[in-house]
Amino acid sequence: MGRHKTLVVLISMQQEATPIIRALAMRSMKDPFGKVLRIKGFEKKIQNTRLIFIVQGIDPRFGVETVGTEAATLATQLAIQTFNPNLILNAGTAGAFASRGAKIADVYLSKGTCSFHGRRIPIPGYQEYGVGSYPLLNVSKLASRLGLKQGIISTGSSLDMTPSDKTQIEGSGATLKDMEAAAIAYVADLHRIPMFAVKAVTDLLDSKTPTSEAFLKNFKRATEALQKHLISVLHVCATSPLSAFSRRT
Ligand code: SAH
Repeated sequence: MGRHKTLVVLISMQQEATPIIRALAMRSMKDPFGKVLRIKGFEKKIQNTRLIFIVQGIDPRFGVETVGTEAATLATQLAIQTFNPNLILNAGTAGAFASRGAKIADVYLSKGTCSFHGRRIPIPGYQEYGVGSYPLLNVSKLASRLGLKQGIISTGSSLDMTPSDKTQIEGSGATLKDMEAAAIAYVADLHRIPMFAVKAVTDLLDSKTPTSEAFLKNFKRATEALQKHLISVLHVCATSPLSAFSRRT
């Protein structure tokens, strides 16, 4: 209830978004940010909430989905400029540590702050800038209400993990590893818009199976789990008052 509000959900891959867009019967927006950027938009009204999905789209040069931080940054800035959201969500898939209790197709809400790994700038002040540690909305109540796990997310530019990435990710206390969340949190923080993430686990970072193989094998199961739980999350967000989104970690 309450005042009219806008909720933007940023998703990197179309295949992650399609099941949810179908289930919610969302309407496709025509080139929301112009034809050059192939970012896609979908919308639907839920009570007083305008729900908008932004999908990063296909890269014109390489013909693949524009996963990763650069495209996420671009899409987040444009979505904020165009739709002025009260709340931003990042939904998608992630790798996770079995040693921290994660299983394939588990759905997590973000926790704590969101950092980058693999950005090494060993100059005073720049070290911290590289890591980021951007604030996220505290969603512990939402997690317990919906029975979802919570975990810290670390974002990098690679699907695999070098030994130095591993040391850094483990040191940050992260359970989850993705390629967009910290970039989205960076832009959301610039604009002081609350943000959190919902991630389904496609691969276990501490298993012997190569990440790319596990990702492809488990992608469908993970996106089905994401669809189911994201819809519950969106329903709560759409029907909660704006004041529920003001407390950040
Ligand atoms: N090989 C895939 C490409 C997916 S890239 C394909 O053929 O379609 C990975 C995407 O899933 C990114 O958007 C990232 O956020 C997420 N992801 C899933 N598992 C990940 C992991 N272990 N590390 C980093 N990102 C991961």
